[in-house]
Order: sequence, then structure tokens, then C-alpha cells
Amino acid sequence: MKKLALHWQILIGMILGVIFGFIMASVNGQGFVMDWIEPIGKIFVKLLKLIAVPLILASLIKGISDLKDISKFKNMGLRTIVIYILTTVIAITIGLGLVNTIKPGEGITEETVTMLKDKYSSSDKAQTILTNAQAQKEAGPLQFLVDMVPDNAVYAMSNNKLMLQVIVFAILLGICLLLVPEEKAKPLKNFFDSLNEVVLKMVDLIMLTAPYAVFALLATVVVSADDPDILLALLKYSGVVVLGLFLMICFYMVLISVYAKKSPLWFISRISPAQLLAFSTSSSAAALPVTMERVEEHVGVDKEISSFVLPVGATINMDGTSLYQGVAAVFIMQVLWPEGLVFSNQLMIILTALLASIGSAAVPGAGMVMLVIVLEAIGFPSDLLPIALALIFAVDRPLDMCRTTVNVTGDATVSTIIAKSLGKLGEPHVKNWDDNYPNK
Ligand code: ASP
Repeated sequence: MKKLALHWQILIGMILGVIFGFIMASVNGQGFVMDWIEPIGKIFVKLLKLIAVPLILASLIKGISDLKDISKFKNMGLRTIVIYILTTVIAITIGLGLVNTIKPGEGITEETVTMLKDKYSSSDKAQTILTNAQAQKEAGPLQFLVDMVPDNAVYAMSNNKLMLQVIVFAILLGICLLLVPEEKAKPLKNFFDSLNEVVLKMVDLIMLTAPYAVFALLATVVVSADDPDILLALLKYSGVVVLGLFLMICFYMVLISVYAKKSPLWFISRISPAQLLAFSTSSSAAALPVTMERVEEHVGVDKEISSFVLPVGATINMDGTSLYQGVAAVFIMQVLWPEGLVFSNQLMIILTALLASIGSAAVPGAGMVMLVIVLEAIGFPSDLLPIALALIFAVDRPLDMCRTTVNVTGDATVSTIIAKSLGKLGEPHVKNWDDNYPNK
């Protein structure tokens, strides 16, 4: 395996993981996989999450303090937010266009609804989703702004769910480094510079284990999957989501070739390890360190851009998730609440799915929690909510894998375009884990 490019190694690991999963499922070896294989995947994801906070902190502080003046930051920040919102609205519109044209809900029979309802509507998972969604809904409209501001920097850094708080703290620190005399700023800048370099090296080391880890992650997904009959019943719905996600990737590739003047294939081959990890872990947050490393070192985006655009994107820009929420909401209405299928509700879905994808955490399954909020915003009958979730539950994990891949691709694309527009897209400078190893 040594000479193969990393993305091929990861791909082979994934394929072998799926095959192994199917074999184990057919010989009732689920217990073995859960006891002996799943922990390998879990350790890998933990390691990736471990370096997320130090990486964001170091690279954002370094990125901002390297800016020559703060107005550049304002410029970049504004562009980032505007482009993120635009791509998300486009994603939801693609999703709504497809689901309204293909109408996957019309193929679902009464028996299928009953089967899914019996299996999932009172399950613990469905109840947890509804409780989480309720907590989100009770928050006021500006609560997300309040939540973004940390009141304790150390606490924010100790909790992966508070990534936005870490970003706010890092931005503040980076800006203030620009405002103090240079000789005073230097030691702290050097410290974060060095921390950044070291943490990126950790990404290289952790990635050495990626082919084995994705094997474990995918084998676990396969043995935990639902029975094929259920998956088949939802094939049309899943197909619409996947088609929409595919169109979104095509859209990014057009952006890359038109605005960044790069070959889409070149771009994909550069960021593919991050995409494959997003797919295997279903978490943009877990993939973030790798996305940052690939975009900076392999695509050539300046750290000033990537250090801000990518972590912010991982938390607020979820094009795949919003597309999924649009499709799922209309699919559910087609099956359970056809009278709700009016134009005003579709517009409402665009707005709420945009906000919901911003509010979704970058972890597995988050998109489904926020879907409840989308449904409630259009007045979906609350007694039907558990059934609505039951309807799409069985395929949520595979769709989560696909939408997370799109989320990560979107972040990487937007950061590359912004870098190009600000003259910050340079030549790639790939670093290997053993570049400075004495006995190389
Ligand atoms: N798993 C997705 C992510 O991390 C969020 C979601 O759609 O559930 O980007």
C-alpha cells in the first residue's frame, strides 16, 4: 500500500470495510465487529476531534495576526458569509426542485408507512431527536448570537460543541495582536505559529492510520444497518437526496473551474482524503483538521483565508444538510400531509432550512434534529412528527454520510474561491510527516 496515494489507500480501506461488514453480518458476527473493530474507528475520530480546537485556535490566530490591516478581515468575513448563504440557498432550491418533480413520496404505500411507524416512531432515538429539537425551538431568535460568545475561554476550548465560541475568542485575540506594538505581539505570534505547525504534523501522523480506521468505521456502519427491505422501500427518496447532492458537487466544480481557474479533477484529487473522511465519519467537525491541511498544503489556499473560512464553514455552512432537509420535509409532506404542500410552505422551507443548517452541529445525525424545526415552522401537525421521523430514519445514516461529504466539499470550494478573489491562492506546498525526520 505504501506507494499508493492516500486517497486510494483510504478508498481501498473503505471498500474492504464494507465487504468485511457484509460478511460479518451474514455470519451473525455483529458482536465481534462491535467489540473488536468499532473501537478502532472510535479512537480515530477521537484523535481527529482532539486536534480540532488547538488547530482552529492556532491557525486562526496566526492567520488573522498575519493580515496587514483589519479591514481585509472584514472584507473576507463579509464575502464568506454572503457566499455561504448563497450556496446554501442554491442547495435547498436544487433539493426542492428535484423532490417536487420526482415526487418520491407518491411511491410509498400504506403498508410501508405502517411498517416504518411500528419500527421507529416510539424508538428511543426518535424521542431523543424530538426532545433535542424542542430544546432548540424554545430558544429565542437571537440565542444563537448569545451562544456564540464565550464567557469562559478555557471552558469553550474544553468542549468540542463550542467550536464557534473558540472561533470568536481566536478572532478577538488575533485582532488584538494586530493592535499591540509588534515587539509585544511577536512572542505570542511565534507561539501560535509553532503550535499550528506542530498540530498540522499531528494531522499527518493521524492520517497514516486513516485507511485502517475507515475500514473499521464502514464495517461498523454496515453491520448496524437496517434490513434491506426497509432500505429498498426508501430507495426513491434516497435517490433524490443523492442526486441533489451530486448536482451540488457538479455546481462546486463549475465554481472551481470558472472562478478559481483550476481543473475540477485536480481539485477533487487534492481534497479527496477530507471528503472520504467526511463520508466515513459523518462529521464535518471530525474531518475539519484534514480539510484544513488539504486545502492549505495541497490546494494552496493561504492560511489567512483557510483558517477563518473553513472552521466557520464547518459549523455554519452545510449545503448538503440543507438540501437534505428540503427534500426530506417535502417527502414527508407528500406521504403524511399533502395538504401542506403549498408554495408558501416551500418558501418557508428555504428560509428555515437555511437557518437550520447554520444551527446544525457538525456531528452525525444533527441534520435530522433540525429537520424537526423546519417541519414545525411550516405548521406540520405535531402528533405526526414521530411518524415523520420514522419514515426517514432507516436511511438517515447513509444519507448523513453523503451530505457530510457535500458539506465539506462546499467549505473547501468556498475557501478556494475566496482565496482566488483576494489573490491568496498560491502554489501547493505539500508537507509529509517525515520531512524533518533525521533518519528518513
Ligand atoms: N453530519 C453532518 C455534518 O457533520 C450534519 C448533518 O447533516 O447531520 O456535517
